[in-house]
Amino acid sequence: MDNNTLFIVYAAMLVATAIALTINWLNNKNEAGTREWAVGSWVAVIGMSVISAGYLFPVNSYNFHALDTLGNIIVWNATLIAYYGIVRFTNTSTRTIRILFALTSLSVVVILVLLMVSEESLRWRLGLGSIIVGAIYFSIIPALVSKSLYKNAENAVAFMAIIFVAVVWARGITAFGGLDVSTYPRQIDKLTVLTGIISNAGIAMGLLMMTSNRLNRRLRDMASRDSLTGLFNRRAFQDAVTPIWNSCLRNKQNMSVVILDIDNFKSINDNYGHACGDKALIDIADVITHTARNGDVVSRWGGEEFLLFMPDTKLEDSSIVAERLRKNISECNIEHNDASISVTASFGVATYVEDISSLEELISKADVMLYEAKESGRNRVCINGNKSAPYVPAYS
Ligand code: GH3
Ligand code: MG
Ligand code: MG
Repeated sequence: MDNNTLFIVYAAMLVATAIALTINWLNNKNEAGTREWAVGSWVAVIGMSVISAGYLFPVNSYNFHALDTLGNIIVWNATLIAYYGIVRFTNTSTRTIRILFALTSLSVVVILVLLMVSEESLRWRLGLGSIIVGAIYFSIIPALVSKSLYKNAENAVAFMAIIFVAVVWARGITAFGGLDVSTYPRQIDKLTVLTGIISNAGIAMGLLMMTSNRLNRRLRDMASRDSLTGLFNRRAFQDAVTPIWNSCLRNKQNMSVVILDIDNFKSINDNYGHACGDKALIDIADVITHTARNGDVVSRWGGEEFLLFMPDTKLEDSSIVAERLRKNISECNIEHNDASISVTASFGVATYVEDISSLEELISKADVMLYEAKESGRNRVCINGNKSAPYVPAYS
């Protein structure tokens, strides 16, 4: 295949990916970054068309070099826009992108000046251009792998970027490496374009996969998490705890549950409004997640009730956690509009003993203790270990 055909194939592939990424954006307007991918890919189409025009209609050598340079500059910016989309999508740092924009702008000026000074500046333009394009693609990699290690779609995009960087830098080095421009091996151009086609198609597919993975995760989260607090709902709690329950049974490990219910919550709603009640739930959920330990499973069990499952935890330890939670909740001020209110919660704690046959039974034991805590004055922890010690009003 000659270079002209390759460029046309490249441009056609870019049109196809631009269409796909535009549909992706229109279907996922709420996902930050999808717009930049679509815009970037259309800008790349324009850039590649300009480059192709230079190859297809080389009126004179200056016209060819000018179109080639202009087209390449447009393509760099397209890549930067798409990369900015990745930064927004993955919510990573924007410092690198600023540096890249600055370096690219500077290089554009240098290259344009070189072009004006002499057509013979091909070596410099080629070398510098390759290094810039490589650098932009290279910067994509940390944004992808930093936050999402072991994710297939992100890794595929990063891998495609690495391949392209390798070839494009090799091209830059060959150009800089003192080769005479007239004997410069054009095969390496062909290789660059081929790699560009493959890696850009791969990157576009990876971006589509990243979007669909994110949507799948959102759907899963919507089905398993409470929308107000972000905690597991009942079903997700049961799904998460069942395997841990079975493994603790097999390994004869302790397990405990803590159930808590906010005291006089209705009066918060009545006195400060439902929105303030919601804020209190969010803040308390936050306290619970920060107080719970790694491995504990936290859920919003009902309206203003929360449930913690603690694997490998005996009664004394779970009571200490419950007491710490009680203290942290009572010390936390709920700020809403101009109001600052404090709340308390009551706690029931139960631990697994051999005559308990199911998770539900353990939870209902804790529930009985919660009722006791409410009855005996609220803002306290009641614990239940086994039948011989049914009720201990601890730490009140
Ligand atoms: P107690 O100390 O006995 O637990 O009293 P309480 O007022 O907390 O208990 P009660 O069961 O009477 O009231 C619970 C209230 O929680 C009633 C309900 O409107 C409110 N609630 C449940 N879910 C939500 C929610 O998502 N947001 C808000 N703002 N309120 C909620
Ligand atoms: Mg309550
Ligand atoms: Mg309640």
